[in-house]
Amino acid sequence: MILKSLLLVVFVLMAASCTAAASSDTTTSASPSTTAVALTSLPPATTTSTTTSTTTTTTVPIPLELAADPSPPDAAPEPRLVEGFSGVGAVTMARGGAALYETPEAEEPFVVAREGLVFAARSQHDEWIEVFTSCDAPAWVHESNVFAEPPAPDATIGPGFDFAKAVIVLDPGHGGPWNTGAVSPGGLVEKEINLDIARRVDDLLAEPHTVDWESGQIFVGREIPEAGWVMMTRAGDSESADYEAGLTFRSDLANSIGAHAMVAIHNNAGWEVSLDIPGTDVYYQSQVPESRRFAKIMVAELRRSFRGFEADWVGAVETGAKSRLSAEDDNPQYYGILRRSEMPTVITEGAYISNPSEADLLATPEFRQAYADAVYRALVLFLTTDDTGAAPDSDPVIWQGVAGSGDARPECVIPSQG
Ligand SMILES: [Zn+2]
Repeated sequence: MILKSLLLVVFVLMAASCTAAASSDTTTSASPSTTAVALTSLPPATTTSTTTSTTTTTTVPIPLELAADPSPPDAAPEPRLVEGFSGVGAVTMARGGAALYETPEAEEPFVVAREGLVFAARSQHDEWIEVFTSCDAPAWVHESNVFAEPPAPDATIGPGFDFAKAVIVLDPGHGGPWNTGAVSPGGLVEKEINLDIARRVDDLLAEPHTVDWESGQIFVGREIPEAGWVMMTRAGDSESADYEAGLTFRSDLANSIGAHAMVAIHNNAGWEVSLDIPGTDVYYQSQVPESRRFAKIMVAELRRSFRGFEADWVGAVETGAKSRLSAEDDNPQYYGILRRSEMPTVITEGAYISNPSEADLLATPEFRQAYADAVYRALVLFLTTDDTGAAPDSDPVIWQGVAGSGDARPECVIPSQG
């Protein structure tokens, strides 16, 4: 409570100075106009201040509260086919879970998938929907057991794009017993940190906000509407979302719903040098021009968010927006997510979890929220403006490493109900 009161005082002071700075600097071009974002007509929050002689009402931005943990997931939906669904899109296992079959003719299901799980929908035959599961395998589910949604209609991103119609996939990297991601010397596990950050982004996208683009501060407000449709590739709360999800499945889900953007959230390991600034890297798809712009914006926003933290930063000799190609024939994208997803996608490697100093930061809700704030701002800027991102970038390089396929392992288990 003490911290909250202190923050409120600080933000009131900051708001006053930021407003002054914005109004006196009309030539700034790097600062995107909030009019590029779909505005709503609801009034901003107001507050009343009283002095000894006068009473005035002024607009004071209300800062968001820092949550120790992100919000729990929504309750599992009732089964329903949303209008327009014809076999392709997303299916969420409805309340009570959903039996999955190897074929529509199979007599017994091979698993009753846990309620709230999301799979990509590929086709429909009569009352049966063919899905592609988190274990990178096809399966069939009866339509009476799922909440099924069709893909989003096509829309052009950039100035004029309505953020209220944005379809976004958040992909918390790693998951399950075999794929933990990097682990810090103190035992912090990357898959859990990535999930926490992704769910904080999900929370931000679920509400309307106002962003002070001078400071990057996000406030309670109405200038940026809630995003239209946000899907997580690992669904559930912190414990129930800890399951294996193949890279083909992750990209397939985003492709199936016609997402406008996808963000794979990771933290890094194995640095090269000590740095004065965070060694944040963001990987883009070199065959998707907009992906490079997205990555540059993401780097700029992550750097801005991390500026307020102190650590013994580490990183590669060159940091920024990067792209890696496989040394195999025809040089496909090195990373499976970027190779398979059909919309602008980036992989964020925000901080080095293998570096004890940065792991200490990643252990705090303050740093994870700052990471999430950056992803949120980058999504808004990328989808609703033609901002090019004020961050260094480099052309694709052929990477000699050996990447695993990223496919789910044969031991992969679909989380079951009960
Ligand atoms: Zn990772």
